[in-house]
Amino acid sequence: MTRAIMLQGQRIPYVLKRSARKTIGLKVASGKLEVSVPKAVTVKLVEQILQEKQQWILQKVQETHGANWELQDGLSGFVAGQPVTFRIVERVGVVQQGTDLLISSVDPKAALKSFLIRKGPELLASRVQFWAEKIEVKPVKLRVTRAQRRWGSMNAKGVLALSVGTLLLEPELLDYVIVHELCHLHHLNHSAEYWACVERFLPDFESRHMRVKQQGGILGGLF
Ligand SMILES: [Zn+2]
Repeated sequence: MTRAIMLQGQRIPYVLKRSARKTIGLKVASGKLEVSVPKAVTVKLVEQILQEKQQWILQKVQETHGANWELQDGLSGFVAGQPVTFRIVERVGVVQQGTDLLISSVDPKAALKSFLIRKGPELLASRVQFWAEKIEVKPVKLRVTRAQRRWGSMNAKGVLALSVGTLLLEPELLDYVIVHELCHLHHLNHSAEYWACVERFLPDFESRHMRVKQQGGILGGLF
């Protein structure tokens, strides 16, 4: 039967399956959670376990939510916050022509990822610079990575790393990821002071944060 549980303010529906098994199993597919339990296990215990595993569950639901992004000829989207039309053509590699991004038809996803890794730091430089000046921080370096599970990260040395997938986000969400990571140069944690930093520059950060969480299909489709 289908039930639901609140995890970190999100309502997560789940299907509870009882059978002769001896262990409890959690599975997330296409954003849906399935919990398989032995016959005698109470709902109370199930919910306790879901609370304990909430980090994993929320991450999996987010990653597998909705259809994966699919790179195809004529698709509209964004690269580094600029609107583009993706064109799959017979050529080597990737080149930008006006608002068209021409991508090799041989292995388009691989070609696009290589392009974003190579050109990403240059394409994002002015945007990162803009926010860094406002937030009064100095990232030492910007790297574009093949990270599949996170949009961005900041280390204590000041290296800002953004996933290739982040470059495909719409501008408001790209800005959110950049501001999120740059504020970590003031606070290397997610404390109340840290979130106050994010809020100072993006007062609507909460809705952007939620929307970024729903974009797992981009990472799902890119890799
Ligand atoms: Zn963070």
